[in-house]
Amino acid sequence: MSRYVYDFTEGSMEDKDLLGGKGANLAEMTNLGIPVPPGFTITTEACRAYLADGAVPESLEAEIDDHVAALEKAMGRSLGDAVDPLLVSVRSGAKFSMPGMMETVLNIGLNDDSVEGLAFQTGNPRFAWDSYRRLVQMFGKTVLALDGEHFEGAMDRIKEARGVTADVDLDAGDLRELTRRFQAIIEADSGAPFPQDPREQLREAVVAVFRSWNADRAVLYRRRERIPTDLGTAVNVQAMAFGNRGSTSGSGVAFTRDPATGQQGVYGDYLPNAQGEDVVAGIRNTLSLHELEELDKTSYDELLAIMDRLEKHYRDMCDIEFTIEDGRLWMLQTRVGKRTAAAAFRIAVDLLDDGTISEEEALQRVTGDQLAQLMFPHFETTGERALLATGMSASPGAAVGRAVFDSETAVRRAEAGEAVILIRRETNPDDLHGMVAATGILTSRGGKTSHAAVVARGMGRTCVCGAEALDVDTKTRCFTTPNGTKIFEGDVISIDGSTGEIFAGEVPVTASPVVQYFEGEIEPDEDHPLVSAVHRIMTIADARRRMRVRANADTAEDAARARRFGAEGIGLCRTEHMFLGERREHVEHLILAETDEARHAVFEELLPLQRADFVELFRAMEGLPVTIRLLDPPLHEFLPDLTDLSVKVALAKATGHEIDKDTQLLVAVQQHHEQNPMLGLRGVRLGIAIPGLFEMQAQAILEAAAIITEQGGSAHPEIMVPLVGAVEELRNIKEEIAEAAHEARLKHSVHLDHLVGTMIELPRAALTAGEIAQAADFFSFGTNDLTQTTWGFSRDDVESSFFSQYLDAGILGVSPFETIDRDGVGRLVRIGTDEGRRTKPNLKVGVCGEHGGDPESVHFFEERGLDYVSCSPFRVPVARLEAARARLEREDATA
Ligand code: ADP
Ligand code: MG
Ligand code: MG
Repeated sequence: MSRYVYDFTEGSMEDKDLLGGKGANLAEMTNLGIPVPPGFTITTEACRAYLADGAVPESLEAEIDDHVAALEKAMGRSLGDAVDPLLVSVRSGAKFSMPGMMETVLNIGLNDDSVEGLAFQTGNPRFAWDSYRRLVQMFGKTVLALDGEHFEGAMDRIKEARGVTADVDLDAGDLRELTRRFQAIIEADSGAPFPQDPREQLREAVVAVFRSWNADRAVLYRRRERIPTDLGTAVNVQAMAFGNRGSTSGSGVAFTRDPATGQQGVYGDYLPNAQGEDVVAGIRNTLSLHELEELDKTSYDELLAIMDRLEKHYRDMCDIEFTIEDGRLWMLQTRVGKRTAAAAFRIAVDLLDDGTISEEEALQRVTGDQLAQLMFPHFETTGERALLATGMSASPGAAVGRAVFDSETAVRRAEAGEAVILIRRETNPDDLHGMVAATGILTSRGGKTSHAAVVARGMGRTCVCGAEALDVDTKTRCFTTPNGTKIFEGDVISIDGSTGEIFAGEVPVTASPVVQYFEGEIEPDEDHPLVSAVHRIMTIADARRRMRVRANADTAEDAARARRFGAEGIGLCRTEHMFLGERREHVEHLILAETDEARHAVFEELLPLQRADFVELFRAMEGLPVTIRLLDPPLHEFLPDLTDLSVKVALAKATGHEIDKDTQLLVAVQQHHEQNPMLGLRGVRLGIAIPGLFEMQAQAILEAAAIITEQGGSAHPEIMVPLVGAVEELRNIKEEIAEAAHEARLKHSVHLDHLVGTMIELPRAALTAGEIAQAADFFSFGTNDLTQTTWGFSRDDVESSFFSQYLDAGILGVSPFETIDRDGVGRLVRIGTDEGRRTKPNLKVGVCGEHGGDPESVHFFEERGLDYVSCSPFRVPVARLEAARARLEREDATA
């Protein structure tokens, strides 16, 4: 038979699964000898049993009785005693903290008799009645789920009648009267009187905590935070410590370091003559921890000593709850504290410096996501900021713009050069053009998987979603905040996608100091503690990682920036930009060319232009490998739009000014029109359909490399053929590249090293990787296209239409375009890598595609033994950090 109840002396911080985080840490503190009011924990298993059966397990009640008896003995008081009663709290606490999501009931054990006992024992009737009215109120609100406003209303009326504003100004008689009124509310609203039997109070409170696991807000919170739904919560029953016994009592919360900046030193709030929940409820102004020092130096010193001890014991920043009862300090909760990204870096490095943690642990204390957050520009925090509301941080960034309430207006105003924030209750696929036009997106409904959030992240647009406090009215084009402030169309607002905050007016934006550091604009020194911390962590990460990190960069400028951010080469240089702008004309000529000669004439024009581009690129990447992808997109992307051109030709015909070239071009455009361009004439298929095209590109690459070499530099080109599905395709193109190499050697008498490889971005390529490897020096997984072709998803189409529904329904946990789908696409990566290397053991294997900069995915690529990841320049530091973290994780797993 399972055991469902454990005394605080029996558990430890390792028992979070069974005892929940709060219970495990209460046990840990108890066993450290820190003053914690005694108590016991009912396990998460009991909760799971209750949720499965709709009833508490049979043996639970007897177990609780035994533990209550032991607690009564330890305290020398008993529940419900009319002379000297024991009071307890009933506190929820799941494995993962879910702040404010579930219930806690204080002062269980008070009834019409024991309240007199408490008054007599303490000589403080005011305190006794204050405790009792709190119990009746909390019981009504949380256990019986009655409307809290009825109680608050009764409280307000009595304060008004006495002419006072604060609860502390009510006297014992007032509080007795209030308790009676609260009891009457319970009887009226629930149909039954407030239970006088303490055992029944306890029983009902425990069940209420179990049930609160499935309360709407808890379910929603778990979905947003990706906490599994089947864990259940533990319940902690604990002797009360009274912070509301008068001016020598009080309650507080504190952190062992500043959770916002990571700065050393204690931070916290204290409220005299109050019970725990008052501190955060904001009913009265709190004092700072330093003011406690003046009020009660003994307790303050003891508190600091305990905090120091806890931090050393947990070897991390902790947050705590404490209560002082008549000059005696009690600890009520601790845990490793939540912190901002900046604080995470600083705390990790400070703890490393003082020898508390190792370099490996320091790396585990920070994440790539936190680093990414530090790299976004952010709003200045100094100066007045008018906070309107806080929603969910759906897609990071700091956006300022004029409020608009529909997509048409967003597009119109954006075209006129205005920055706009698109505000909707929720977005749907019809809003796509508005979302593209906007600098930021704000919704009042929906979570992190809502349409707005998914699409905004996909586009890299700043987004705050689910700002439920805002009443958005798209008809009158305005929104209203809870305190009645209205924002109309055209008003400027600022939204912070990293914190979810929404401000009125323009909040000044500052560049990220971390980016300035990567750019080489600021030095890591004592003036910049955050930058120094980031520098330190990155140095450790670079020394620890196995995988190389490259960047996707198309131009010399991007390449130079990538290099400053730590890229060790280019993993993907797209060449399509070399056919755009003025060069578009050459593509038109190419398409219209009817003979080999005409085509070659076009190549002759394009060759020097492309060669010059590559020379610049190689120069920026001097000494590092540069992977260049031969032309990939369908040709029609370089041609005029079919409709535009048809109209132009029709007009010309009608007015008798027909232009031959346009008419010919129209025919070509019509011919090149495809139903599914993504699956049509592109990539290697283009190279085969237009002989000489890839040869010209290869020649430009190799001649550029030769020029760099002649100048005394070193270039390491890696020519990459896109969209290969069969080894024969690659062989065909390789011949052209060999021809180009031959010609380059004739022109330049320098030795040239180059590799020829292929992208693996079609399932067939992965499945026949063993054969393809015969013709390839390297593989680069194009995981964007590989995800599209494996799932049969056209990214642009699915993300803006049904994706959010898939995420909400749990069909997808996360978008496979953000994080690699390990089971499907990942399996192809594994097959491709393993079979490729079976053919060619030293085959270089990398990944280009946004997954290369996604933390989760980087861990997968490390597991699969890839040689490098390549991502956008901005994500390079994130990939460097995560590659090291992934390496450590793997070592730990195999240790
Ligand atoms: P939450 O998880 O929402 O913080 P808690 O279980 O920590 O809920 O309880 C809410 C408040 O009640 C906290 O401030 C806590 O310190 C206080 N509290 C809980 N149990 C006791 C107790 N036995 N004595 C005094 N205060 C308590
Ligand atoms: Mg708490
Ligand atoms: Mg591709």
